[in-house]
Amino acid sequence: MTKLLIVGGRVVDPLNHLDAQADVLIEDGKVVRVAPGQDAQGAQVLDAKGKIVMPGVIDMHAHMRTVLGHPHAQRMVALAGVTTVVDMAGPLENILESIPTSGSGISIAIVDAARAGMTLSSSRPDLAEQRSFIEKTLASGGIGIKLLGGHFPMDLDISASFIEEASRQNAWVAWHVGNTVHGSDIEGMRDAIEAANGHFLHVAHINSYCRGKIRPVLDEALEAIDLLKTHPQIFSESYLSPLNGTRLTVENGVPATEVTKTCLRRLGFEATQAGLESCILAGKVGVLADNGLIGELLYGKEALAYWKSKESVTVGSFAVNPAVSRFMLAQAKRDDGSFVVDAFSTDGGSYPRNVIVENGLMLVQFGALTLAEFVTKASLAGARALGLPNKGHLSVGAEGDVTVLDYERKKAAATVANGKVIMNEGELLGKGTTIVCDERGATALAKRGISHVVKQPINLDSFKQRFVCKN
Ligand SMILES: [Zn+2]
Repeated sequence: MTKLLIVGGRVVDPLNHLDAQADVLIEDGKVVRVAPGQDAQGAQVLDAKGKIVMPGVIDMHAHMRTVLGHPHAQRMVALAGVTTVVDMAGPLENILESIPTSGSGISIAIVDAARAGMTLSSSRPDLAEQRSFIEKTLASGGIGIKLLGGHFPMDLDISASFIEEASRQNAWVAWHVGNTVHGSDIEGMRDAIEAANGHFLHVAHINSYCRGKIRPVLDEALEAIDLLKTHPQIFSESYLSPLNGTRLTVENGVPATEVTKTCLRRLGFEATQAGLESCILAGKVGVLADNGLIGELLYGKEALAYWKSKESVTVGSFAVNPAVSRFMLAQAKRDDGSFVVDAFSTDGGSYPRNVIVENGLMLVQFGALTLAEFVTKASLAGARALGLPNKGHLSVGAEGDVTVLDYERKKAAATVANGKVIMNEGELLGKGTTIVCDERGATALAKRGISHVVKQPINLDSFKQRFVCKN
């Protein structure tokens, strides 16, 4: 039997209305007792005195794939206090294959991207092809699919058909909104919610559609909040980092992607190779470099030298998310007191913007959220939506997923997953990965020897009964 005792922390567990000094005892991966003054005999001890102990952070939107060959995402999220992530694009096989070399002890639920030329034969696949793509994803260990409207838009009728088919198969379906008429903005968000036609849909990173592209930022945020309030079958998350993520590759003298061109113009640079070079040198865009363990953003001269050494084939981040919409989406509530945007996310993982803890605790220190509300959005809400009844809280029998917070430094001091300390004060100690799968994928994962946990099916009625945090 393996025993872990997390000693002396302030335990915050909104589901159990608990906010008190207590020790948390985990045996063989499960919480067995939460009470002060427990006997540490025979247990590994994790000192949490002066710290906050919460159910493990769940990032409902991150990317675990290898980026330009660097498999650093799992380590980065473990360092950020995250125990479970939803990988929002796959590729499913890329992630499953990377487990032996890059596992950090976390759990990952994977939605695979519906993308012409990769998983689909065209951007107008017929219903049979849509059906078999979803079936195959579930059978291989994914929980569902993602529509990539912002990057690879499809016609609205095809996107709607995917959502209906996902509902028929009880598969998770997420959408980075955008279609062939409206882009990745508030109009695209309205289209997506209408196309869902009452079915479950995960609308990705709401903050992305409230950047002031169509109307003033404040108006867009209010509109997004109204759309979500009036369509309670929509699951949503938003992220707290100012940073986006985009390719910085230049082809024939111009940036290869529209996102980069738009960011350059908005910052007052030309959308050309010369404009991008000036922008990098001015420190207005970070260039992602791998330091051997994790990915870091370089700025200024150092960034430009690195970008040139890679002949521009790099990715990076511009600070494009306005504070106003990030703040409003983090805080907005429904009439019943539950949150409008269900959960916090990062769109991070491989990008260094895994700041649920850092920026979330800033909101707590600012007084925008209580600590229990932060824990609700950072852990419990995601667990409930995903159908993981043993995550998101610290009841007896819950999975031993815990994040220890250093409130003053606004950092994760330790990460505990499945009862094992996978990160302590910046030191990575975890191995392997647990895949959160649909029951239809359990056999395939078992055959491959991949550790897994089966999620419950989506139940719209219970999903709509959102948790109301009373602390
Ligand atoms: Zn994403």
